[in-house]
Amino acid sequence: MDKYLIVHYGELGLKGGNKSYFETLLRKNLMAVVRDLGIKSQIQYILGRFLVKLPDGCDEKEVVRAVSCIPGIVNFLITYRVDLDFDKISDVLLKFLPRDLIADEGYETFCVRVKRSQEKMPFERMQSERELGAVLLKADIGLRVKMKDPDFQVDVECFGDKAYVGFGKYDGVGGLPVGSGGRVLCLLSSGFDSPVAAFSMMRRGAKVDFVHFSGQPYSKKDEEEQVKKIAKILAGYQSGSKLFIVPFGEIQKKISTNLDYPAKFRVLLYRRLMFKIAERISRYGKAKALVTGESFGQVASQTLNNMAVVDQVTNMLVFRPLIGMDKTEIIDKSRVIGTHDISALPCTDTCSLFMPGSPEISGKLHEILEAEEKVDFDGFVEEAFDARDIVKF
Ligand code: ATP
Ligand code: MG
Repeated sequence: MDKYLIVHYGELGLKGGNKSYFETLLRKNLMAVVRDLGIKSQIQYILGRFLVKLPDGCDEKEVVRAVSCIPGIVNFLITYRVDLDFDKISDVLLKFLPRDLIADEGYETFCVRVKRSQEKMPFERMQSERELGAVLLKADIGLRVKMKDPDFQVDVECFGDKAYVGFGKYDGVGGLPVGSGGRVLCLLSSGFDSPVAAFSMMRRGAKVDFVHFSGQPYSKKDEEEQVKKIAKILAGYQSGSKLFIVPFGEIQKKISTNLDYPAKFRVLLYRRLMFKIAERISRYGKAKALVTGESFGQVASQTLNNMAVVDQVTNMLVFRPLIGMDKTEIIDKSRVIGTHDISALPCTDTCSLFMPGSPEISGKLHEILEAEEKVDFDGFVEEAFDARDIVKF
């Protein structure tokens, strides 16, 4: 029996005249994922949803995993397609109802929901929901009917002369299709925060490039390797990701061994340089904003004064999607997006290299600017930019 993936998208429907722009992008993003899965079918558009025929023997778990990572999709179903005929639909219900899953999950309640594309269907919606439910009840499936918030839902979507029967909807990421909001550059470390920040921007439609400042040769190779793994996971939410790796260890060493430069300002200088180098890379890579994983007050460099001092180094728009979140919320989110286990591994944090004993927590811009005259700030930016490496996913 033919199986189809049915994809529903939500917020896109609210975009009025721009709707087709968002739909086209989502279709393109879905197509990239479908092709990556080795599926050659075309994507059909029917009444506000996308349909993809799944080939025989296709790995449905992989389909579910990949499709649940595409921003812009609210939910989706894997369905069996049959003729729009009550008896045929009933046969599918009885034959393919996932009894093992129902038993394993300990489900107690269910309902059947029918959606019809036109009023002129052979049977009425509520009546058919009742009657199809009755077919299952008669088969002694061990569940009672509950129309609101059941443990298990059977969906029957009817278009034209076909019905598509799905046993359980999967949640999508929601949000907007990647690319609909332009390109940004996320400063990515191996910690918990910046991967979650990058994901938040993708989910709102931004295409996210990444830049990592590597402490090499003074840090172990571990942080860089972890960042690559994290970028690879994040690349699952958008196709065609770029990670710029910028050697930063040598620059940090030069700053920390420059005895004219006040040690307490080092962290601020590192961070101002990171922003400026990121700005340089944005110009090159055509990103229109920077993104960081900063959260208000979390560490010394994230006090109000210090963030203001760092921010002043660039005119670029800087997004900090996690600014009001607690660390525990961020860590929970990292579990959901899949970066948690890598971020949890111990490694040398680039910023902690060449750290002063007590960093300034309330930097004043004029003092920092004065101190910066003691180093070759612009020279460092160009040196770092020229030495960048790119990894593509
Ligand atoms: P994270 O968990 O994301 O590492 P953090 O809590 O360790 O953040 P900081 O080290 O102060 O906080 O970094 C704040 C932000 O600066 C990070 O979220 C990230 O966006 C950026 N950042 C820090 N270190 C690096 C680095 N080595 N390369 C690229 N970006 C970095
Ligand atoms: Mg960090």
